[in-house]
Amino acid sequence: MIIGSGPAAWAAAIYASRANLHPLVIEGAITEENRCKGTLPLGQLALTTEVENYPGYAAGKLDAYLDSAIDGDRRKYMPPHAGHGISGPELMELMRQQAVNFGTEVLTDDVTEVNFRRHPFELHCLGGRRIESHSVIVATGARANYLGLPSEDTFKNRGVSACAVCDGALPRFRNKPLVVIGGGDSAMEEATYLSKFASTVHLVHRREAFRASKIMADRVLANPKIQVKWNSEVDEVLGNDQHGVTGVRLRNTKDQAKHEELSASGYFAAIGHTPNTDFLQGQLELTDKRYIKWTTAARTYTSIEGVFAAGDVADDYYRQAITAAGSGCMAALDAERWLAAKGFH
Ligand code: NAP
Repeated sequence: MIIGSGPAAWAAAIYASRANLHPLVIEGAITEENRCKGTLPLGQLALTTEVENYPGYAAGKLDAYLDSAIDGDRRKYMPPHAGHGISGPELMELMRQQAVNFGTEVLTDDVTEVNFRRHPFELHCLGGRRIESHSVIVATGARANYLGLPSEDTFKNRGVSACAVCDGALPRFRNKPLVVIGGGDSAMEEATYLSKFASTVHLVHRREAFRASKIMADRVLANPKIQVKWNSEVDEVLGNDQHGVTGVRLRNTKDQAKHEELSASGYFAAIGHTPNTDFLQGQLELTDKRYIKWTTAARTYTSIEGVFAAGDVADDYYRQAITAAGSGCMAALDAERWLAAKGFH
């Protein structure tokens, strides 16, 4: 069983199905709750636009390939290809299709509860199904934290992002003022990265001191393109249908009455990620930030033998599609070898 439906899950499924392990991918349920949390099937990549850094997709027109590769029933719901390298949703549909082509079965449901204290392991789904499995790969990813403003939702993918590395180089952000929210290392990294493209980066932080490491904070403070807005919170993301994000309205956290508007064509939330581990309910060892703990260096082993973890659910550091896919492959190989050693395959 593979739980999740991002690059880690599909890479694991491709390897597991080609090894005749007959994987079932439990890809997540299509619910309003998952939509609001950013945890619908196909994961975080399905919420991004262009993917320019996944090897193998140089810019070009992929229409004919997408038409021929992806099942017609799903293809007809995909927006037209925009003519750049590849989009996040397209990449995920291709990975899913590739796994299905090799015999992977897919269940569109959420796993709500697991029992890893017995073997075969037991999974319970939102739709009521109970599933047993000799080995499980958990690849449920993480979700970016946003402030939770309705205006953030309105402009997601139209200037609102939580990933500078994914989106920062897009034309809409080039030579324009941008806003980054947060005061940790992620915010420092995002602001520094975006300063290569933006005319100005406004770094908005709610306190008057950064949480970030000194070296990264010093780099930001020395960067002439980054202006820090201390003691400030975003009250609303401003924009319109034609241009997407056009700015933000800030509220001063010391004097709540004081407001300021900034022009910006992009808004990047860098206030942390939350791993999707709630359903594990104490069954696997987690880190203090609630990511699954890999227990052995360079392996995808978890604290329970036969349960493997791949992708962002176990990685708060790299968080890239290519690294998630790589660890998904590793988890499938680890599972295959474990099953063979135990005589299950
Ligand atoms: P983080 O350290 O938890 O920082 C989150 C920041 O967002 C904090 O400054 C926090 O403000 C702010 N924040 C949280 N909720 C907010 C809200 N509702 N409104 C406004 N601001 C809010 O998270 P992170 O920066 O993603 O870093 C996570 C971990 O990854 C850290 O251990 C970090 O060192 C590591 N990391 C390392 C690197 C690197 O070394 N290259 C890069 C990225 C991340 P307060 O400070 O006021 O709480």
